[in-house]
Amino acid sequence: MAAVLGNTFENKYAEELIATAKAIATPGKGILAADESTGTIGKRLDSIGVENVEDNRRELRELLFTSPDIEKYISGVILFEETLFQNASDGTPFVKMLQSKKIIPGIKVDAGVVPLPGTDGETETQGIDDLNKRCAKYYAQGARFAKWRAVLKIGNGCPSELSVHQNAYTLARYAVICQANGLVPIVEPEILTDGSHSIDVCAAVTERVLSACYKALSDMHVLLEGTLLKPNMVLTGADGPKVDVPTAGFLTARTLSRTVPPAVPGIMFLSGGQSEEEATAHLAAMNQCDTVKKPWTLSFSFGRALQASALKAWGGKKENYKAAQEAFLTRAKANSEATLGKGDLAAKGESLYVKDYKY
Ligand code: 13P
Repeated sequence: MAAVLGNTFENKYAEELIATAKAIATPGKGILAADESTGTIGKRLDSIGVENVEDNRRELRELLFTSPDIEKYISGVILFEETLFQNASDGTPFVKMLQSKKIIPGIKVDAGVVPLPGTDGETETQGIDDLNKRCAKYYAQGARFAKWRAVLKIGNGCPSELSVHQNAYTLARYAVICQANGLVPIVEPEILTDGSHSIDVCAAVTERVLSACYKALSDMHVLLEGTLLKPNMVLTGADGPKVDVPTAGFLTARTLSRTVPPAVPGIMFLSGGQSEEEATAHLAAMNQCDTVKKPWTLSFSFGRALQASALKAWGGKKENYKAAQEAFLTRAKANSEATLGKGDLAAKGESLYVKDYKY
């Protein structure tokens, strides 16, 4: 046991944490991020003229989870608390429905961001106070992994040292509390694409932020084998000079190789407002890039880039169920192939970028 735990303290869940993280990071599979808060899902439903009430939120989630063969491409689903405790329309708990397909249920545990005093509009994430209690409750309900989103931005001296430090240590604190309760923490330091910076600036900032995160995780004795990372891809700012897909793939892989220990089983990217096709192409490009060492699985944990076409195809109508599921599966399959380095590197499609994105 000591050999497995290394520098970390005794944790009765160690073996389970390692097995869960490894299963989620199975090559060819990724995560569906379906954990939009009630406000965020409201905006999505509003875009197709559907009212933001519990039944409609259930219907959208049920549509996605019952897509035929979803389990070929998806190893885990991140849920919002409402969904973790919700039943499908036939009375089956969503947790059971996912488990029956060998998909691991996860839970968003952060409580959103607030301004970080002493900075120029930077933020910190809330939710630590009662996290221990909530994690125990979520584990009892069947969740086996968790997500916590920290948000950083580039430009005008940002991210400040204070923001990098505060967010890294809060992520590490969250991670160690999750592990004490048997949940694999997804560590998500999202650097927003807002701004006109070049891709080199994004690479440098991402390197700095990830290094700080792994220092903090080490300081807090987090069992790295039982964690996953959910970073932004290394890209140009939303208003910055464009670069080609292989360059972005290379810089993303290089930045990770400089910062993420090989003990981490999987890096599951957020899509961050890229079009569905762009996000997939970038994922394929980094997996195709053979000039950088990649000791982890490079996969997806997309929200918008897995759901946008499905949402449009559904339009809130029962008769569109099948078309919506097909649209979702098309994206899931393409991303699954991208994790194996297959697929076209042409970036196209409609951007899903939203300035100052709240989740
Ligand atoms: P996007 O893939 O839509 O960026 O969101 C994923 C997510 O979980 C953000 O926390």
